[in-house]
Amino acid sequence: MHKLWAVRRKVPHENHPWLVYCRAPRSAVFLGGSQLKLKQLLLAFILLVIVSGVWVLQGYLSMESARRDVLMMDTFVSVMADGREAERVLDETVVEMRRLEALLSAHIEGSDVYRINNALGAQVSVSAETIEVLEVAEEVFRRTNGAFDVTIGAVLRLWGFGTEARQVPTAEELLSAMNGVGFTNVEFSREEKWVRLKHPATRLDLGGVAKGYIVDRATEFIYSRGIRHAVVDAGGDVRITGGRPNSPRWLGARKARVGVQDPVNRERLVAVVSVMDGAVLTSGDYERYFVEDGIRYTHIIDPRTGSPVRGLSSVTIVTSKAAVADAIATAVMVLGKEAGLALIEDWEGVEALLITAEQEFIMSSGMAALTEVLR
Ligand code: AMP
Ligand code: MG
Repeated sequence: MHKLWAVRRKVPHENHPWLVYCRAPRSAVFLGGSQLKLKQLLLAFILLVIVSGVWVLQGYLSMESARRDVLMMDTFVSVMADGREAERVLDETVVEMRRLEALLSAHIEGSDVYRINNALGAQVSVSAETIEVLEVAEEVFRRTNGAFDVTIGAVLRLWGFGTEARQVPTAEELLSAMNGVGFTNVEFSREEKWVRLKHPATRLDLGGVAKGYIVDRATEFIYSRGIRHAVVDAGGDVRITGGRPNSPRWLGARKARVGVQDPVNRERLVAVVSVMDGAVLTSGDYERYFVEDGIRYTHIIDPRTGSPVRGLSSVTIVTSKAAVADAIATAVMVLGKEAGLALIEDWEGVEALLITAEQEFIMSSGMAALTEVLR
């Protein structure tokens, strides 16, 4: 009986030949077993549409463009993100960045680095993050023949960086501080998470790599919360995810543009680097320095001499991770233009813009394609 409704056939039905041209009575539509199933199906479908509609709407309403500006790691840090609950995610990101700073800063009492430096050669239990930073430091130390060396802590202090009193040290002072320089004086275990300084004069300073590492970790934290567009900028150490933030969604993702400061006049930009994903990071002799007898002493030390470097005004590195970019930028400042450029050309996936003390621009082979020079 229940098939009646479906029949308005031009040819006789194979089982009911007498039903040709017969039409179902209206009530039959709602009485049969399969009609009931159809009704349930229809209801379920409508419900599904409503639920998914509410879900999409809720998702759309919780899309936020958020930004935080904080003072951290001795610099201005800006974090921007577009996505679901971006406001809350960025609050958590800032907390996470502060936690990492409190582990990695040599100047914060109780940090991993502080405890290592004050352990008189004993093994110190540290966090996994400190080990990760040391691994990056070791790799860049190795690949730069020691131009990047986080054991210059005692030498930095002697010059007064990280303290109130900056001064040119005496030759004897320098000599004794230099005794502890050399990454081979650092022993650490990834598995057991401890670090030990083998030489009594060795002091760690992760200032040349930690900021980049924290930028990476902040970026990964934001991504892990489901956000796909973000910029983390720690005083010019920038990492971008998914292009430019705050751009209208219907335009699609667009590259983010990162300005390179003029080393002579920091108010001006001399170049703009465009990237969709990755780190753009600059080391400069103008970031931290003091002037004595007309000579500018910058905060980047040549581990071979124990003295501040000269020759390059700034080095901008473009690569995927900010931690390695940070360490390479510092290393190139030490190596100078020839050896520095050779390092970059040799390092897969790394590009650089070097600005010499004479304000000459030097770019690695793949850098021009990413860079707009503004002068
Ligand atoms: P950046 O601004 O990234 O070049 O880092 C500079 C910081 O790196 C300094 O403030 C020191 O903490 C640290 N540093 C200076 N010279 C070296 C070096 N040769 N190797 C590793 N770290 C260094
Ligand atoms: Mg650096």
